[in-house]
Amino acid sequence: MRLHEYQAKQVFADAGLPTPAAELADSVEGVVAAAESVGYPVAVKAQVHVGGRGKAGGIELVDDGQEAREAAESILGMDLKGYTVDRVLVEAAVDFVDELYVGVTMDRGAGKPVAMVSTKGGVNIEEVAAEEPEAIAREHVDPAFGLHPYQTRRAVYDAGVDGDLARDVASVLSTLYDIWEANDASDAEINPLMVTGDGEVVAADAVLNIDDDALFRHPDLAEMEEESYEDDLEQLAGGYGFDYVRLDGNVGIIGNGAGLVMTTLDLVDHYGGAPANFLDVGGGAKAERVANALDVVFSDDNVDAVVFNIFGGITRGDEVAKGINEALESFDEIPKPVVVRLAGTNAEEGMEILNTDLVHVEGTLEDAVKRTVELAKEVAA
Ligand code: GDP
Ligand code: MN
Repeated sequence: MRLHEYQAKQVFADAGLPTPAAELADSVEGVVAAAESVGYPVAVKAQVHVGGRGKAGGIELVDDGQEAREAAESILGMDLKGYTVDRVLVEAAVDFVDELYVGVTMDRGAGKPVAMVSTKGGVNIEEVAAEEPEAIAREHVDPAFGLHPYQTRRAVYDAGVDGDLARDVASVLSTLYDIWEANDASDAEINPLMVTGDGEVVAADAVLNIDDDALFRHPDLAEMEEESYEDDLEQLAGGYGFDYVRLDGNVGIIGNGAGLVMTTLDLVDHYGGAPANFLDVGGGAKAERVANALDVVFSDDNVDAVVFNIFGGITRGDEVAKGINEALESFDEIPKPVVVRLAGTNAEEGMEILNTDLVHVEGTLEDAVKRTVELAKEVAA
């Protein structure tokens, strides 16, 4: 889960990191009022889940009410890399002389968290990492001990930060590591950490991504998730409790078990089709779950045909078949052809039960996928 900049900054500020005074606004008048209250000059910053907002026109610095109004009019409602901006952060502009980068993430290769500092802040850090990796000082962390003070100092000096500033940056890095750990974050980043003319440091931007599997331990953060920012179909699927990923093909895929669904995706691709989604209905395939899964896949306008790939285990094939029949009977008209393949416990009984007026039944996964790809081509033609 990605937090918005304003949410991440709240977490950072609560942990004692310096952040600029700011207010959130969702209307032109709101922006002007927020700017008056924060005090000019202010930065008006789009709150969408994309990086590089500055370059894409989602951040404007303004000096007075007239400019604030114009910035609000241009940023609110704009499309930023596929996301519609409906809120902006109105933030006291920082008068800076330097921009640093400070971050903590999981280094999967090393199997350890890594704390990073660079003087190449304010630019795309992935590019820095690719082009001049030596410009980023790194310290791997033993999670049992945390980030030692000598490590934060070493990272800061290795990055080339010195003097009084080094102490402040080391302190920021240490706090950022604590935030990362306490919140089960996957990434915590400040880019840029601005250095002011007076030698103060300020977190001018904030990234905090939380490990979804740990979200249940952080109900306060989970509450910050804003569904309006998710793809509509992902939201619908999430509401039903499915693991769902939208893809850009036209073959809808439903299965039980992540491995089975992945296999189906691969086979659809193998037989010349293009998967429209990954949808794992999980354990149990009662009529309601089946109907919900179909609701998600049928709601995708790109879908031309659907393959249902179920392996009966604890959930028996005959139960699944009843579920599929009931679910399909509940539709006045089945919008797209559905192909079913059942295997495992009571698969034969299940295939007998399936109503062939409503679905195409195939005996093997290969045949089911081939049939679905053909049907999708016919429907698309
Ligand atoms: P991002 O582009 O989405 O990463 O958004 P950032 O918050 O990092 O802003 C990008 C750039 O906008 C920064 O590196 C600055 O150069 C500029 N910027 C953002 N906030 C301020 C500010 O308060 N004052 C000034 N002068 N520049 C800012
Ligand atoms: Mn940034």
